[in-house]
Amino acid sequence: MIRSLTLKLALAFLVVSIIGAALAAILARWSTFTEFGSLVLDQAQSEFVAEAATYYQATGSWAGVMGYFPPRGLAPSSQPPPGGEHPGQLPPVPPPVDGNRTGMQPPPSFAFALVDQNGYVVVPAGPYRVGDYVSADELARGVGVEVDGQVVGTVLTTGEPPELTPREELFLTRINWALLYAALGATLIALLLGLLLARTLTHPLHELTAASRSMSQGDLEQRVTVRSRDELGELAAAFNQMSAELARANQARRQMTADIAHDLRTPLTVIKGYAEALRDEDLPPTFATFETIFQEAEHLSHLIDDLRTLSLADAGELTLNFQAVTPRDLLDRAAAAHRAQAEQLGITLQVDAVPDLPPVWGDPERLAQVLGNLVSNAMRYTPQGGRITFSARQHADGIHIMVQDTGTGIAPADLPHIFNRFYRGDDSRETDERESGLGLAIAKSLVEAHGGSISVFSALGEGSTFVVYLNTR
Ligand code: ADP
Repeated sequence: MIRSLTLKLALAFLVVSIIGAALAAILARWSTFTEFGSLVLDQAQSEFVAEAATYYQATGSWAGVMGYFPPRGLAPSSQPPPGGEHPGQLPPVPPPVDGNRTGMQPPPSFAFALVDQNGYVVVPAGPYRVGDYVSADELARGVGVEVDGQVVGTVLTTGEPPELTPREELFLTRINWALLYAALGATLIALLLGLLLARTLTHPLHELTAASRSMSQGDLEQRVTVRSRDELGELAAAFNQMSAELARANQARRQMTADIAHDLRTPLTVIKGYAEALRDEDLPPTFATFETIFQEAEHLSHLIDDLRTLSLADAGELTLNFQAVTPRDLLDRAAAAHRAQAEQLGITLQVDAVPDLPPVWGDPERLAQVLGNLVSNAMRYTPQGGRITFSARQHADGIHIMVQDTGTGIAPADLPHIFNRFYRGDDSRETDERESGLGLAIAKSLVEAHGGSISVFSALGEGSTFVVYLNTR
């Protein structure tokens, strides 16, 4: 069993080229020989007709013409044709049409029969025997022998190939050799080209195999050279893209693990510190102390819930209780849930007049969670006296739900990243302990689990607008 692709390709090329060259040689040989044969036959026939005409002209009849055109196997007569009705007029030895073919002798009549003007065979050949009567139909297929404008006989072809002269034989032998050399040359070139092409094809594959092996051993930063724009080039480009994506995902996973560890450690450190102080009676067991411990435990619990939601969404295992949800109800519910907090912060929370919109198809609890995350952020980044507005519109692609605030806005550099996990924009800003950097990532995952999408429009100092695109039923 051949295991090398190069060898397989080279062999395939070789076999195909041998078959191709052999077929071409056979066809070329056959067609050359056929054409050459018919050329020789035509030429011999013209000569035969000319010879016959000369004979008739010299003798005035066909008497004794047999001796002039002896059938195959018999030596041509060395005697000049008999005088016949014109004994005094011996025909001159006819001039050769082709010196090579006939020399000083007329061609032997092995391929042609001669019939006189009455339809009787005077020179036999093939199926035509002397004295046979030839039908008018057959005569019509022959070539007439004309003397002084009168048809004095007809030359019929027997279909037998004319005998070849040594020069003609040599010509055909040379053609044979030339075809053989051409076929061998073509096969050799095909073999070389096959090897070259096989190497061109397999070289990038070897490179890809080596890079894949390195990746499987954990070295994800692998790049292969894209050498062409064909399928192999596309494969190499796709491989590079895949390895870059894997390396990026690996880096993101490491970063996320570090972020999770960090975010879990902060509240745990607080809880541990307070618990130790209480145990050692360094701290009095007051309401405030227990409240702090409770708040930190709750934060921890939220964080773990968020991480679980994200991992379920990633695995596609988030259970969504789909039903028809009226946009107006969704917005009223989110506004009601956050109105008290907004009032405390001195922020106006309002729901814009929402026309009668068709219901969206989704899980009301999860959609409320999305709006909750958006409005929590809006309240966090909107100063006192600001405004948060909920609204909804119908568009050709479904329902757009908007949460707009008049807050700080988001820096253009942060905008592409704010939906990433653990991304917290603007480090210089005073960061809240409660910020996990997961709120928008969760909102995005939940909306996508509904078959929708989420985007943001924001300008620093002017506020932000988050738009959730949802499908109607
Ligand atoms: P966080 O817990 O930090 O709020 P999010 O995923 O909810 O995490 O938000 C990511 C970042 O996006 C925030 O750190 C903040 O910089 C920015 N951001 C989100 N919503 C707003 C908003 N309404 N106005 C200004 N910045 C926002």
